[in-house]
Formats: sequence, C-alpha cells, structure tokens
Amino acid sequence: AKDMGGQGFRHFAPDMTTRAANSLQIEGRLRQALENNEFSLMFQPIVRPGSPDVLIVETLLRWKNDQNEIVTPDQFIPVAEESGLILDIGRWVLHAACRQASHWRQTRATPIVVSVNASPLQLANPKFCDDVQAAMEAAGLPPALLAIEMTERMMVAEDAIISANICRLTQMGVRVALDDFGTGYSSLSYLTRYQIQCIKIDRSFIDKIECDLQARALVQAIIGIGKSLNVVMVAEGVETQGQAALLESLGCDYLQGYLIGRPVVAEAL
Ligand code: C2E
Ligand code: CA
Ligand code: CA
Ligand code: CA
Repeated sequence: AKDMGGQGFRHFAPDMTTRAANSLQIEGRLRQALENNEFSLMFQPIVRPGSPDVLIVETLLRWKNDQNEIVTPDQFIPVAEESGLILDIGRWVLHAACRQASHWRQTRATPIVVSVNASPLQLANPKFCDDVQAAMEAAGLPPALLAIEMTERMMVAEDAIISANICRLTQMGVRVALDDFGTGYSSLSYLTRYQIQCIKIDRSFIDKIECDLQARALVQAIIGIGKSLNVVMVAEGVETQGQAALLESLGCDYLQGYLIGRPVVAEAL
C-alpha cells in the first residue's frame, strides 16, 4: 500500500490477508481493464435552478468487467488508489472526457463544461497539469470547457504540489471545484489554501434540508460563505422538487441530482 499520509496505522484484523488478496486480484483485473478498454464514462447533467439547459456535466467512471457487469467506482477506485493505478486510469478518464467535450462543442449550439473527478493522488502528482494539458490538446478542447473536481477524501502529504497544481490549472483556464464539501476535516481551510472556483455541497446535507432545520441552516451558511468568496455553488444529490425549490430560494447557483437527471451515456444527453 502507498503512504497513508496522516491517517497512519491500520489495526490488524483477522480478515486482513483475504482483503489484501482480494485487492491484488482486483488490481490485476483493473490493469487488464485498461488494456481491454473496459472503462467508460457516464455523464450527469448540472443545471441552473428553474432552467432545463444543461450547462455542465459531471463525468462518472464505469467499468464493464469481463462478465459484462457494470462496476461502480466506489468498488474499484480505492484499490486503484492504493496501487497507484489511479494515475493511468485518471489519464484515460481525462482523455475520454476531453474528447467527448470537444465533440459536444462541435455538435451542440450551447457549450457544455465537462467536470472530471480527480483523485487526490492525481492532484499530488507533479505531472498532473501536463496530463490535463495533453488531454485538452489531443482533443482540441479549450480549457474553459473543462473543470476538475477534487476531494479531500484521502489525506495526502504533498500539499505544496497540490497547491501548485491548482494554481497552474487556474492559470491554464481550467476551473477547479471542491467536491463533497462539508464532509472532510478541512473543507473550510481548503478554501483559503487553494484557488477554488466552485463548491459542490455534499449530498448528505441536501438529503436533509427539507426536514432538518439545522441542515438547512448549515446549507444556507455554506452558500453564504461561497457567495462572499465569489465561488460558484453546486448542490449535489437533489432528488425532490422541495429540495430544488429550497436551494433556489437560498441562492444556490446550480443543481445536480436524480431530479434533474441520472448519469447517462453521452448519446442520451
Ligand atoms: P461523486 O463525485 O460525489 O459523484 C456523485 C455520485 O453520486 C455518483 O455516484 C452519482 O451517480 C451519485 N448521484 C448523483 N445524483 C444523485 C442523487 O440524486 N441521489 C443519489 N443517491 N446519488 C446521486 P457514482 O457514479 O457511483 O460515483 C461515486 C464516486 O466515485 C464519485 O462521487 C467520485 O468520488 C468517484 N468517481 C467517479 N468517477 C470518477 C473518476 O473518473 N475518477 C475518480 N478519481 N473518482 C471518480
Ligand atoms: Ca464529483
Ligand atoms: Ca460529490
Ligand atoms: Ca461523493
């Protein structure tokens, strides 16, 4: 396993060996998956409250394994991160996303920004911006049509590199979004440390805003912070009309979730 950063030591559990063997097996299959082109992207629309126009789409990775089963990222991203394979997979995602974005740019009347999830390990890689640049160039995509979503899911030590990468992305004209906002240890400090243009409020807060006044107050406060920092606010996991109406009244800029649309293949957008 890679450096676990500040998270330190895992306790030994009786099932550790089986879990390690399992990881090794998945790792081998992920390598094959890259070679055999078993990955694909789904796209989920992001809209302005009250408007049907799709202005942004988030790319979500899928793996169709050799048994023709669709495997969701939660089941393989952790292994890909532990093994370092996420760098190769992430590069594949960047190229596929830029290609699709470029295709939409040529075929649609209104531009679509494509928002790509990046693992903290990618962002901690000194070559990350070169990868992004190469993917945009290969696809002929202007940087304004690409966004990168980062999380603090995993503690990463090389934070000077992350900081430099975010700076450079911003200089290149690629927007950076802070994903799953409110769930990590340091969401707020990230806002002062990095040049973030967009905040995605985590679904766990949006879930509760209709019935839980505290959750609603918290979302209101987060949106207020975003506004005062001139950051674009996106609500994730919007599933009901009630949530959408509340978020609109709180001044949320963009909505994403099953209410607006589930992740779909590119042709279905
Ligand atoms: P995320 O970035 O927070 O993506 C949103 C997840 O919530 C997606 O799950 C999406 O399908 C789901 N979702 C969207 N709207 C709703 C809703 O209204 N209700 C509910 N219940 N769920 C909703 P998915 O596709 O399984 O992705 C899970 C996570 O895997 C993502 O969370 C992201 O962290 C990671 N991931 C996805 N694609 C990539 C990728 O290309 N690279 C990396 N490093 N991570 C990825
Ligand atoms: Ca995301
Ligand atoms: Ca998220
Ligand atoms: Ca999430």
